[in-house]
Amino acid sequence: MTVLPKSVEKVIEEFAKLPGVGPKSAARMVYHFLRSPYKEASKLADMLKLMDEQVKFCKECFNLADSEVCAICDSPVRDKQKVCVVEESLDVVAFEKSGVYNGTYFVLGGVISPAEGVGAEELRFKELKVRVKSIEGNVEIIVATNPSLEGEATSNYIQDMFKREIKEGRVIITRLAMGLPTGADLEYADQLTLKRALEGRVKV
Ligand SMILES: [Zn+2]
Repeated sequence: MTVLPKSVEKVIEEFAKLPGVGPKSAARMVYHFLRSPYKEASKLADMLKLMDEQVKFCKECFNLADSEVCAICDSPVRDKQKVCVVEESLDVVAFEKSGVYNGTYFVLGGVISPAEGVGAEELRFKELKVRVKSIEGNVEIIVATNPSLEGEATSNYIQDMFKREIKEGRVIITRLAMGLPTGADLEYADQLTLKRALEGRVKV
């Protein structure tokens, strides 16, 4: 028998699906909204809806953006010959916070993970190829996937993908130095670690 109204239970269920949130904290959050006097829940719902409607993916790097092309791709001071390939938009935020990178990005949308059923087709490899092709001159692709087995497999895949361009000398691929502990999440790396990892990147 359930004690809670169905509508409340449903929201708890939804909140519990969020990363890092278990059923207990989900319930706590929902109670917080139920207690709040100023229609906080409706406000949040409106904001989420607005975000859904307004946020776009940059058509060049697939980072989250307000417009067709994000501010980084659009910037004339960014080094367009450098493309830093990351898993998620949050990784871009981590790099930008560190302030040590002046190139552009490409958000793959994840990593190859057979265990989780993510194959190469699910990620933006084709788009990466198109992006690199569209850049005039030589390109450095900095593979900044997380230092995990999946990140490694993804790095190898990218290397394979650009085999010809690498031979021709048009593309070089570098990988972040392993100042990052294996299994770590890039978005949680502190600025100094990220800076060292970027500066010590090695050609692969
Ligand atoms: Zn962009």
